[in-house]
Amino acid sequence: MTEPGLPEIRIRLPDWVASAVDWDRVYSVVADRMRLAIQLARANVEHATGGPFGAAVFELDTGRLVAVGVNLVTRDQNSTLHAEMVALMLAERRLGHYSLASPDGPAHELVTSCDPCAMCLGGALWSGVRRIVAGAGRVEARRVGFDEGPVFPESYQYLRDRGVESVRGVLGAEATAVLELYRERGGEIYNG
Ligand SMILES: [Zn+2]
Repeated sequence: MTEPGLPEIRIRLPDWVASAVDWDRVYSVVADRMRLAIQLARANVEHATGGPFGAAVFELDTGRLVAVGVNLVTRDQNSTLHAEMVALMLAERRLGHYSLASPDGPAHELVTSCDPCAMCLGGALWSGVRRIVAGAGRVEARRVGFDEGPVFPESYQYLRDRGVESVRGVLGAEATAVLELYRERGGEIYNG
C-alpha cells in the first residue's frame, strides 16, 4: 500500500499521441522509423507539449513499434524527461523488464530525432538497445540553444565496444527543420 504523502511521479504521453501513432504499422526501413520520430517531434512543438524532440523504440529486425516518446521537460517540470528516456521507459514498461536485451527476445533499437545528450546516451546503454539511430546533429541542436553535455567521439566508441551501434544524420534536414520551427515559435530552451 502506498503511504500517503510520499512523492510520486507519473509519466504520461500527451493525449494527441494516441491518434498520431499507427501501432499496427511495421516500419521495415530505417527512414520510416526516423520519419515517425520526426513526426512526433514536430507534433510536440505544434501542440506545445514540450521540446522539439521525438523518439521511438522498435524491434531491430522486424520494425515492429514497441514504444514512442516525446520531450516532456517543460510540461512536467522534469529535466530527465527527454524523448529518448520517455520512449525507453515506456518500452521497458511494455516488455515488463528493465532490459530490452533479453537473450530470448528480439533485439531493439532507439530512433531519435536528434543526437542524444549525455543522459540519453547513457540511458540507451543501460536499456540494452543494440542500435541508436539519430536525425539532427549536435551542431544543429546547439544552434537552436540545446546542449548535449559531455558526449564525445569516445562515447560512441565506448558504446560500439559494448555492442551498441550508432547511425547518425538520418533525414537530418527534416529533423533540423523541427528544431528551427521550435525556435521560430519562441520555444523555451531549458538547458545549456
Ligand atoms: Zn537527452
